[in-house]
Amino acid sequence: MINRRDFLKTSLGCAALTTFAACTGKVGTESPKGLSFNSNAQLNISFQEGTLKCETLTEKLDIMEQNGITGLEVGGKGLINRVDELKSALNGRNIKISAICAGFDGFALSEEEATRNLCRDTMHEIITAAGQLGSVGVIIVPAFNRQQPVMPHTQETRDFLCQWFNELGTFAHEHGTTVMLEPLNRREAFYLRQVADAAQICRDINNPGVKCIGDFWHMTWEEASDMGAFISARDYLQHVHIASRKTRKMPGEDGEADNYVDGFRGLKLIGYDKFISFECGCNAEDRNATALAAVSLIRKQWEEA
Ligand code: MG
Repeated sequence: MINRRDFLKTSLGCAALTTFAACTGKVGTESPKGLSFNSNAQLNISFQEGTLKCETLTEKLDIMEQNGITGLEVGGKGLINRVDELKSALNGRNIKISAICAGFDGFALSEEEATRNLCRDTMHEIITAAGQLGSVGVIIVPAFNRQQPVMPHTQETRDFLCQWFNELGTFAHEHGTTVMLEPLNRREAFYLRQVADAAQICRDINNPGVKCIGDFWHMTWEEASDMGAFISARDYLQHVHIASRKTRKMPGEDGEADNYVDGFRGLKLIGYDKFISFECGCNAEDRNATALAAVSLIRKQWEEA
């Protein structure tokens, strides 16, 4: 762990330092509410199950382990039937299940009760498996644009959302995990687009089983400041997705556009120590080499932040 003075010296650009000096009126003392300059931040990289191209999961895990990738994100569909398989695949390895990516049926903000209940019931199954696997949480989107009929974007719907997720969060907490709201860009889910909004919903619900994630791909379109978005989310932020910023391929495939330094600064400021997980395709022929080059780019930019 580095001390606060070193952290300030090495990690904060002048602009950020000025901003925080302006916020607090003083530098080198207690930080604004919920922020810690004495950061415990840690870069933990995770791959989704499809990030590498190999014949078997064992081969993928071998490559990940050799390259210090310590998280595996899997899909929620059918997860309950994979608990033993995944537990034995990870046994004795320095790799944990990072998060569970969706996989539920129905959706939370449906006008139809049966569709909402289908979402709740399939989420219960995934959450149960997630708890058994020690996952930090299960990612959920309240409603994609394509899902109809959907509740209108009103205060009443927001109140309903909070109540619905409070119940789901309690179930998740009882199973040792969380549900994590994922904001998407407006083309995919107009309802919830910004990390701070997701965090604010978490704050209103005030349930330890309800958290949020930030996805650099979606943030590219929706956030005026990556750093600001992550700082807003603070302790509600439990997971991060990463992809190239123009085409959602491997980080680095979009060249100079793939800059995550500002966001990483935000993560360092909130002492983020959960996973940053690849959620992306790949343009290049050699998928595995491109993924590992992306890991190097992320490590380099984390140091720069
Ligand atoms: Mg995502």
